[in-house]
Amino acid sequence: MKVNHPALLVEDEEALASAILIALKQTDLSPVVHVTTLKAAESAIQKNVFDIILLDRNLPDGEGTEIIPVLNRLPLSVRPMVLVLSARGTTQDKVEGLDLGADDYLSKPFTLEELTARIKAMLRRLATSKTAIQSSEPTNPPLDWSLDANSRKVFSPTRGWIALTPIEFKLASHLILNAGKVLTREELLKNVWGFRFLAKTRTVDFFLGKLRRQFEDNPIQPKHFLTLRGAGYKFEY
Ligand code: CA
Repeated sequence: MKVNHPALLVEDEEALASAILIALKQTDLSPVVHVTTLKAAESAIQKNVFDIILLDRNLPDGEGTEIIPVLNRLPLSVRPMVLVLSARGTTQDKVEGLDLGADDYLSKPFTLEELTARIKAMLRRLATSKTAIQSSEPTNPPLDWSLDANSRKVFSPTRGWIALTPIEFKLASHLILNAGKVLTREELLKNVWGFRFLAKTRTVDFFLGKLRRQFEDNPIQPKHFLTLRGAGYKFEY
């Protein structure tokens, strides 16, 4: 069964927008609302629930990423994923966009094949996060590790509920939902940060260290959030 995902395209270049709208017919994004200004984007977000927003940065009335903090205040269950489309393709711009909470970043010019591939990957991640939200029905108190996506809390049997930052929660929930499975750094960067440009980054180790300090009795000798030298990372119950 085909599942439709309402989407918002924020793009002021008419020719590019038309090409994107045609390319989107190859994906499950539908219906697609197209706007050309930041102001129209904000009003569309207030009136509709979107699964994905394709967001240009240089808009006639401002910087597209200004709407990301607004989106981040929406409850997780209705928060759209954001793919930034930008002519500014430096690593600094990508990091900025992702730090603001964008889920992925595509530099112009891009091929429509790459755009549809990214969207399909985002839809797979969306399905995973919706499952996480549904599986976090309040059970009081949980008997084992649990996730509450709405409040971004993780329950550990020894530490209780701990509220995490958005990225910490995304990383922790991705590891916990894949418990027992070894995940490579590249996989985590792609699935948690939507990022495949800086495979050498220490980002994963940095955030894993933060999770260990919050959940492990002895962060130096972790029992749950494990690093397997040369292989990747793994969560164990
Ligand atoms: Ca533009």
